[in-house]
Parts: sequence; structure tokens; C-alpha cells
Amino acid sequence: MADIIQLLPDHVANQIAAGEVVQRPASVVKELLENAVDAQATSIKLIVKEAGKTLIQVIDDGKGMSTTDARLSFERHATSKIRTADDLFQLNTKGFRGEALASIAAIAHVELKTKQEGEEVGTSIIIEGSEIVEQEVVVAPKGTSIAVKNLFFNIPARRNFLKSNTVELRHIIDEFHRVTLAHPNIAFAMYHNGSESFQLPESNYRQRIVNIFGNRTNEKLVPVEEDTEVLKISGFVGKPEYAKKSRGEQFFFVNDRFIKSAYLNHAIASAFEGLLKDGAHASYFLNLQVNPQTIDINIHPTKTEIKFDDEHTLYAILRSSVKHSLGQFNIAPVLDFERDANLDTPYGFKNKGANTPTIEVDRSFNPFQEEKETRTKPQVSYKKETAGSWEGLYVGLESKSTKTQQDFSEVHFESDEQTASMFTNENEVEQQQSTYQLNNKYIISKVKSGMLLIDQHRAHQRVLYEDFLKNLTVKEAMSQQLLFPLQLHFSSQEITIINQVKEDLEHTGFMFASIHTDSIEITGVPVSVPESEVSIILEQLISDVENEVPDSNFSATDLLAKSMSKSLAIKTGQSLSLQEQEHLVNKLFACKEPNVSPTNRPTFVTMTMDELDRKFL
Ligand code: ADP
Ligand code: MG
Repeated sequence: MADIIQLLPDHVANQIAAGEVVQRPASVVKELLENAVDAQATSIKLIVKEAGKTLIQVIDDGKGMSTTDARLSFERHATSKIRTADDLFQLNTKGFRGEALASIAAIAHVELKTKQEGEEVGTSIIIEGSEIVEQEVVVAPKGTSIAVKNLFFNIPARRNFLKSNTVELRHIIDEFHRVTLAHPNIAFAMYHNGSESFQLPESNYRQRIVNIFGNRTNEKLVPVEEDTEVLKISGFVGKPEYAKKSRGEQFFFVNDRFIKSAYLNHAIASAFEGLLKDGAHASYFLNLQVNPQTIDINIHPTKTEIKFDDEHTLYAILRSSVKHSLGQFNIAPVLDFERDANLDTPYGFKNKGANTPTIEVDRSFNPFQEEKETRTKPQVSYKKETAGSWEGLYVGLESKSTKTQQDFSEVHFESDEQTASMFTNENEVEQQQSTYQLNNKYIISKVKSGMLLIDQHRAHQRVLYEDFLKNLTVKEAMSQQLLFPLQLHFSSQEITIINQVKEDLEHTGFMFASIHTDSIEITGVPVSVPESEVSIILEQLISDVENEVPDSNFSATDLLAKSMSKSLAIKTGQSLSLQEQEHLVNKLFACKEPNVSPTNRPTFVTMTMDELDRKFL
């Protein structure tokens, strides 16, 4: 029989290797930035178009390459960084596999210009799908520029798998953060579609963090320093009161290399124990220096995971030094006036301000007249400040309709009536009770065939979700004007995201007076949104947009409705009055799809009499 094994041609092997190295535009960004850092650049510029799908260019002022090296750099296993396998354990460069450029050149159009210090002229090379199509002598500044165009042009399946520009850009910015945070002594700039996204001058570590995440970050940082034989730590953790819902700002660098480590992350989380609100994540920017011989960075092709020889010791040192910093800088739990009020008051009272006792005489009171309409009007949370003219604060965005009253009895849960339930005596309660709340989590409701067990959080999410979706599509949401505009601070990427969803937000009832580069001013919010929750809602929204996994039927409106309903839905643990329970059950079954939450999880389960009977056999 004939021999059938053959060696794969280089360009095929490179394409296969590219599958490991280049998953998305952000992988190219990472490799090019790291090469520029390794080339001892002092200033590095990243230019991106359409989230890297059409162009990723990195320009550095590093040491450049000779003509021969320039050609060789695109060969597989071509590296100037190691010579023997032993060198791997002394590594102080980012790269060493010699695979990145070869992989990138296999799946994109690449233009390289490079010149070494002291040379008169440089080299320009154009490569398409591993083929060198042009090589020239050029006049160029010292350093290297690599432009990667039309990524995955020859692998349509991969190209089609790329996510939306928002998502791909998010990944690129993540990589940019990682490299720029690891090297504050190098100046970086980033441009996307022609406009400047970041301008980071050479600086110290603290300034670098502030330059990336916005001026307001400065006051949030608590320094962490530790110097032991096995481990040196330097950097910052975020003060607990600024902890965010999203996991965004968490960075470990080991020997200047960004790494992910769930284990070390846990060490930080445990140092913060008792200081964070539920669901909040501490921010941290920590540099760990360890002996390169005690780690193995070789275990992952994209090199973000490493193995430590002695993880337990690192864990203990890290935890105790973060704890120490939090203690030293007096970050003990402070009296928290913003603490989640739901914990102390039943849900029905959560938005009601304390009423100043006043004596009022209704001079027009006529006992023979029917009860005044205002008695049954839904109560609004800020009644206190706005007494008398609260209606003036409601502005329909597109239709200043007369449906006002009806509309917000729909969006709001509370009504004066429920106040009564606190005072009704036990007997009465028993008579009318058709629902029962179990462990502040489930509502049990009696139906003919048996009973329903309703998850209160998911059910309310469904109700709010359909409400928001309706508002977003008919664009008729009610807005509640704020007495004082609300100013909120965000980083520049967060502002970019807010700009993207601004119009949709307006359809839900948000009103923006202005959006600056690091803050926004809000003058109106949806009727169902308490002012105190606005920043949490926007944070959650930003984090949802960032982590959005778009599928074929992704839509921004849907995402917004999901995110806001998640933030606003009553939580597990909230106690509900009977009226609220019933109201929720009724609203749920008035929904189009009552069976599932917006994220497709069951909102209730049924238990029929038959099933119950069988349990007693
Ligand atoms: P690695 O970084 O693992 O060595 P790469 O494929 O990323 O492999 O790069 C191959 C080689 O090309 C590098 O070892 C380096 O010598 C050279 N090189 C790549 N980018 C640059 C650059 N921006 N400036 C100077 N040399 C570079
Ligand atoms: Mg490299």
C-alpha cells in the first residue's frame, strides 16, 4: 500500500496555529502590543478601525528589525527571545513562542515597516495569507509599524463568528488596559475610528490607573505594599464603598504580565470579607513580583494563566497584606447611611420617606361627599418634597398624554391601600389570604387544580421586562423629573457605552441634560426607578452591554429591558405584603410569557392536587 502521511505545507500549519493564537481582533492587539513592549519602545500607538475587523495597527519607537529579521519574523518558531528551552525559566520578555506574527500573517493582510536605530533606510514588507507580495526599501522613522488588515479574510467562518463591534472593541480595550497597566513607564495612545480613546503619558502607577479609569478613581485607591522573600506586592485596591457590580477592574500582574487567577482573586475577596455589599466586587490593580523560576507561564497558549510553585503561601501573603492596607487606611465599615433599606423595612415601605408629622385641617371637608379621588391614587415615593404639584413632575416623553394616572398605576406597585394591611387584624388576614410568602422568596398561590410556587424575583423581572419592552418600542415612557439634576461619574469607555444606548434609555424615561467625557447629568428618570438606584442601574447596564453575548436575535432594546428589570426587580429576601403578593401574581399572569423570566428560567412551578395526593400515599 502507498504511503499516505505527508507534511502539511507551512501556510496550512500557520493557519492551524493561528486558530490557537488569534481568536479575535483583541488577540492581535495583545500580540502586537507585547512585541512593541519587548522591543523596548518608549511610546506605542494603537490604531483600530471597526473594532479591529478592518484595521489594527501598532506603531512603536522600539529597536526595529534588520531586513533579514523582518522577513524571518513571519516564519513559524522565529523568535529572538529564547534560544534554548532553559531560557523559558529566565524569561523577562512577553513573547517567546515565535508564533504570533506567523499566525497573524496566515489569516490577514499585513504591512510591516521597520527601521533600526542608526540605519539610513528601513524595510517595508507586505504579506497576504503567508505570501510575501512586496518588499521594499523605505524611508521610515526608527521603530516598527505593523498594520493588520481584513482579519480572517481567508477564513469566512471565523470572520462570521466575530461578535458585534461593541463586544470586539470591549475585548480590545481590555487587552489595552492590561498592557498599559503593566507598563506605566511607556507612553500609550489608542485611536478608534479616527478618534482618540486613550492618551496615556509616561507616569507612575497611580497616575496610569487614573488616566485610564478617570479622575475620580484617584480617591478610591488604597495602596498595598508588601516585601517578603517569596513575593513582592505593590499596587492598589479600591475602597470597598466604591466596589462595583461588574468585575471589570480586577488586575493581577505577575512579573509585569497580566494573569487570571481565580485562586488569588479569592484571596482578595476574602480580605474584603464583610466590607462589601452583596454582589459587589472589589477592584484591584496588583503587581506581584516572584522569582521567575517558581512559575510556569508556559501552560496556556495565550499565556494568561500561570502555575505557581507555592500557591498557598502567595494566597496567605496576598490576603493578609490587602487586609492590612484596608485596616491601616481606616477602611473599617463605616456607618452606612445608604445601606440597603430593604433590609429593615418591608418592601411596601421601602420608597417612602419618613413623613414629617403635620396637622392639617381640610377646610373643604364634607362628610357627605364621596371620598376624594386622591385617597386611592397610587402613592409616589417623593411625595414629601413635591406635595401639591407632583403631577407637574411627570412629563410624557413623546406623548404628553392624559393617560398619566392610569400609566403610572401600572408601572408602580404601591398604593395607599396596602398601608392598611399592616394594621388589619389576624382574622381578617386569614379570611382574604389566597397567597402566602415562603421564606421571603417564593409566593405560594392557590389555584383550582392545586398550587403554584412563584419565584418572586423572577416573576417581577418578567413583569418589569415586558413593561420596559413596551415603553421602548412604543416610546411612550413616563419620566419623573428630578428636582436636582443628578451628576454621575464614569470612565471614558463607560461613557461610550452610555452614548450607544442613550436613545433607548430615553425611551424608558431617562432624560440627559449633558454627557461629558467623564460624567453625565441626568434630569429625569423612569417613573419606576427610584433616584437612589440610578447609578446602580446604569452600572449594571454598562456591565451587561460589556458582557453581552449577542446571538442572532440580539437587540439593544432587549438588553436594556433585561438589564433594568434585573436591577429593579424585587429581590429574594424582601418581604411582601399580601396586596403586593397578589398584585405581583396578577401582573405576572397578565404577561405575554408568564412562564419564564427574561433570561428564560422558569418563574413558577405547579403542584397539582394529584401530585400532592400521591405524596401522601
Ligand atoms: P515572539 O514575540 O514570541 O518572539 P513573534 O511572532 O511575536 O514571536 O515575533 C517574532 C520576532 O519578531 C520577535 O522575536 C522579534 O524579534 C521580532 N519582532 C516582532 N515585533 C517586533 C517589533 N515591534 N519590534 C522589533 N522586533 C519585533
Ligand atoms: Mg510576540
